[in-house]
Amino acid sequence: MSSVEAFKFVKDMAGIGNRWLDTEGESRGREYILQKFKQFGLEEVHTEEFAYLHYQPKRCRLEIIRPVREILDCQPLEYSENGEARGEVVYAGGGTVAEFKRLDRLGVDLRGKIVAVTSFAPFLITPHCERRGAAGMIVISDAPKNYIRRLTAKLDPEAVNPRPPLDKYLARFPGVITSEGAGELLLTLLSAGKVVVRIRHKAQYTRKTTSNVIGVVRGKVEPMKKVIVGGHYDSQLAGPLVWDNGTGVAAVLEMARVLSGKHPLRTVVFIAFSAEEIGLLGASAYARQHAEDLAKNAVGMINLDALSSVFPAENTLWVTRNIEALSRAKAREAGWRVDSVVDPSSFVFSDYYPFMVLGIPSTWIWEYPPIHPYYHTEKDVLEFIDSKKLLKVIEVNARIAFHLAYAPRLRR
Ligand SMILES: [Zn+2]
Repeated sequence: MSSVEAFKFVKDMAGIGNRWLDTEGESRGREYILQKFKQFGLEEVHTEEFAYLHYQPKRCRLEIIRPVREILDCQPLEYSENGEARGEVVYAGGGTVAEFKRLDRLGVDLRGKIVAVTSFAPFLITPHCERRGAAGMIVISDAPKNYIRRLTAKLDPEAVNPRPPLDKYLARFPGVITSEGAGELLLTLLSAGKVVVRIRHKAQYTRKTTSNVIGVVRGKVEPMKKVIVGGHYDSQLAGPLVWDNGTGVAAVLEMARVLSGKHPLRTVVFIAFSAEEIGLLGASAYARQHAEDLAKNAVGMINLDALSSVFPAENTLWVTRNIEALSRAKAREAGWRVDSVVDPSSFVFSDYYPFMVLGIPSTWIWEYPPIHPYYHTEKDVLEFIDSKKLLKVIEVNARIAFHLAYAPRLRR
């Protein structure tokens, strides 16, 4: 593993810039990875296409009507319904189950209300609001300097190859995202009494296609058995999004570069997924198309997403139980301190999810919490990536992947 090589890939991805689906950046990103896989000499380099519901933002508006009249900064909440909603604001904190239950206990009726939450994962909150009949949602971004994170109201792996009626893939109300400063104003007004707002959201929803990029190093003893190493190359709507996920792509490329031409016992499949940001759709498409083979033959899935920023964070193993011991051992060998271990099976979040539901041992070695301050904003830039940390985290992942590929016997 080379920190210089890995960081070169990060720089290249930063240079390509934004990779929102159906943009030039998306196709340049895909082409770049395809060429790298070929250059390294991976086998069976190809793309696999699937369909998705494309989101093209048009307009949004967030307007306080009572007790003052004021227009606030906003961005559209992706995959929310087109339309307008007017109503009283209820603040639901971070939008956790406990917070919604507390509101229920207090007798707060959310029917026809506009629910405001502070969150970077509103898709986890949408179902709570829908169930309670909310009329709209305001997500308060907590990024510094009033940067507004770009976020989606839905993150549904089932939305791969969507079929009509297409509005079943959308939140049942319009939504907007606003800045921290605007959020503070809303909370200040709420502390003084009733606040009424009007929100508007308009986007164009169209069925389109995109592709995963795949390359393989064939196993020499048990070629049917495979290790999946993947990370997404698509990005959110604005900015170069280098942490999320230029770094993960760089990790996939660096591991592919080092392993190509070698002779592992089992096959290693390198995948750059598309459409992660809108529903883990690339991973979902791949897992569906190869479900039978994967369930029988995959010995592990290594997910590489949003690695090694300069901001301090906890080292966390998001690993299924059947690969926890191996992950801990490899972290120790690499000298990567483990601060916490999380069972990821109940979080529909990042590309390993569709693999873990097939029962495949799955890992995401992640430096979190807290989240990168500029996550999903224009300021997720190259200067906030730590190349030394990146090399270390790639090393942990490579040790796990290469163990799965080379160990004479595997224990679960
Ligand atoms: Zn990501």
